[in-house]
Order: sequence, then structure tokens, then C-alpha cells
Amino acid sequence: MDLYEHQARELFEEHGIVVPRAEVTDSPKEAREIARRLGGRVVVKAQVKTGGRGKAGGVKQAADPAAAELTARQMLGMRIKGHRVGKVMLAQPVDIESEFYVSYVLDRAAGGFLAIASAEGGTEIEEVAATRPEAVARVPVDPAVGVTSAKAQEIAAAAGLPPQTADVLVRLWQVLVREDALLVEVNPLVRSTKGRILALDGKVTLDDNARFRQARWGADESGHHDPLEAAAAAKGLNYVKLDGEVGVIGNGAGLVMSTLDAVAGCGARPADFLDIGGGASARTMADALSVILSDPAVKSVLVNVFGGITACDAVADGIVQALETVRLTKPLVVRLDGNNAARGRAILDGRAHPLVEHATTMDGAAHRAAELAHTA
Ligand code: GDP
Ligand code: MN
Repeated sequence: MDLYEHQARELFEEHGIVVPRAEVTDSPKEAREIARRLGGRVVVKAQVKTGGRGKAGGVKQAADPAAAELTARQMLGMRIKGHRVGKVMLAQPVDIESEFYVSYVLDRAAGGFLAIASAEGGTEIEEVAATRPEAVARVPVDPAVGVTSAKAQEIAAAAGLPPQTADVLVRLWQVLVREDALLVEVNPLVRSTKGRILALDGKVTLDDNARFRQARWGADESGHHDPLEAAAAAKGLNYVKLDGEVGVIGNGAGLVMSTLDAVAGCGARPADFLDIGGGASARTMADALSVILSDPAVKSVLVNVFGGITACDAVADGIVQALETVRLTKPLVVRLDGNNAARGRAILDGRAHPLVEHATTMDGAAHRAAELAHTA
């Protein structure tokens, strides 16, 4: 589960990391009061669980309490990358001299953690990482040892950060360990013109397996980064948003994973995928199709089902029934194989929907879906 910035800020503060004074509200009137309490001039920040708020108009300076109220009014209810702004945080502005990037992230492959740090933090960090990877230091952290003061100095030196940041690096590691986080990120960590080191933005992802001892954060609204993921979860479906153009529906995690590879092998990219699991009922199929079709990035849909306990004719029935309730707006390529595949294909042929076609092999289906996505 991701925390909101204001929650991350609270954790940082509890662990002795210096953060600007700030308060959260969902009311423009209260925003004005808060700004007054904080000294008048504030930064108004949309509280959404996504990055890049600054560039999307979700981080704005307000010169006085009246401006803070107005800005809060404009920001509340606004959407940033599909996330509705329900609350804003008002923070005392900091005069920034330099912006740094620091994070600890679980490195599953290495069985440890990775410290990632850069002296060129701020809103362009992704650009920096992509174009000049040498400006971003990556230092493995042994979880059994953790980030000692010596390790923190090593990380700071590797990234070219000022030595005073070492203290923050040690405390940030304590946040990760004590709060059961898989990721803690501060971007930007700044040095103010007065020479103080402050965390101006924070992202914390908690380990859901430890949720039983992190009850203070509640159940979360969804735990999903993406609104479509949340909608799918509400229907009991496993949906993951990716960034390509072919929507993928399959039964079973293994088959879905190989379908993603097949799509990539055909020069297309999966837009998202949905595992309908073992029981692909008509209802499940209708839900799956409606979720996938509501993603505007999807140009074609590939349904890849290997009939086992759930026979292909039942899946085909599901698709046909789904077509009654879901208006198909994009081409659908169906590959059915396994138990009762021929009967399943016959059912689809019988329905003869102009946007539905079937393929006999997984590669054939992936090729066709990729082709349709590119001509769409
Ligand atoms: P993000 O875009 O979602 O990562 O939001 P951030 O909280 O990181 O803010 C984006 C950028 O706004 C930061 O990189 C800073 O450059 C700027 N910013 C945020 N807070 C302050 C502040 O108190 N003072 C100044 N001068 N700039 C700020
Ligand atoms: Mn940021």
C-alpha cells in the first residue's frame, strides 16, 4: 500500500527527518486558516498517490491565505493522472538551494535493498536517470546490516550529496525497517539557502504482508495505484495496467505471462492484462471485457484461454453473453485451446460478431491482435 505524501511526511518527522511544517485539509476555507497559521505564504500540494504532481498543476505556491484558499478550491476535485484530489496539504515554503534524490527500494533479484541517490533530484529525475545514468548512484544495502553511519556516508559520497545528508539516509533506513516499507523515497531532499537539509516530498510503499502491525494506516481505499486496477479489484479480478496498446485477458497467471511475452514478441506492447482465473463465467468475462475496454489505451483485445476444468465452450458462452451486456468497441481476437476448444470456436462462429475473430494458436492470436492494434 502506498501512503499519501502527508502520511510519509508524518513518518519522516517521527523518525527525526526535518520536514516543512504542514497541515492537511479537504476544505478551501480551512486552507485559508492553515495558511494563516503557517505564516501566510504556503505551498499547496494535491494529495494523490501518483508522482509528477508538480508538472500536472498539483503543486502551487500561494502568496497569502486568500490565495491559498483559492488555490485549494481549484485543486480539490481536480484529477491528476486519473486520481481525484480529495485533500490538499499546505506546507511552509522552503527556499531551495539544491534538490537531491534519495530512496531505498527492495531489490528482489539481489535479495536485498538498493539505495538510489542523485545530486540532481527534483521533477526531472526520470529524465536524468534515462539520459545520464552515471548521475544516479546505486548502492546495494545488506538488510542484515542496514544503513549505518558509514554506509550512509558511502551512499552520499557515491551520489555526490553533501555529507550532512548522511544523517537523513540513516533515519530514512529506520523508516523503512520500522514501518515495514518496501520503498521509501524522498524527491526532492533539499538543501535550503540557510543550509538545512529537509525532505520536501515523500513516497512510502508499505509491505501489505505486514499490514497486521501497521493498523494505523487503516484499510486504504484500494491499495491500487491505478483507478482501473481499483475497479477491477472491486469486481474480484486481477488486473494490472501497463503502457502498451493490446489488452490481454487470459486464465491463469502463467498463461497470462506468456501471452504478454507473445504480444511483445510480435512487436506490440500489452496495454494491461487481466487474469480471469479458473472459473471464467459469463459474468467474469463481461466484467473482464468491460474493464479492459474502458482503458482508452487499448486498441485491440486478445483473449487467450486454455480450457481445463473450465471448458472452452463455457468460456465462449461467456464471451457471447458478455457481448450482450458490453458494447464491443475494439477488435477482439480469441484463442481457445484445450478442453472443448472446437465447440467453443463453433459458438463464437455462431455469434458472428463483426469485431470478434479467433485464432488457433497463441502466436497467431498475438500476431493478429498486434496487427489490429497497429492499424486501429
Ligand atoms: P511531485 O511533482 O509530485 O514530485 O511533487 P513535489 O512535492 O516533489 O514538488 C515538485 C517540485 O516543486 C519540487 O521538485 C520543487 O522544485 C518544487 N517545490 C515543492 N515544494 C517547494 C517549496 O517549498 N519551495 C520551493 N521553492 N519549491 C518547492
Ligand atoms: Mn517529488
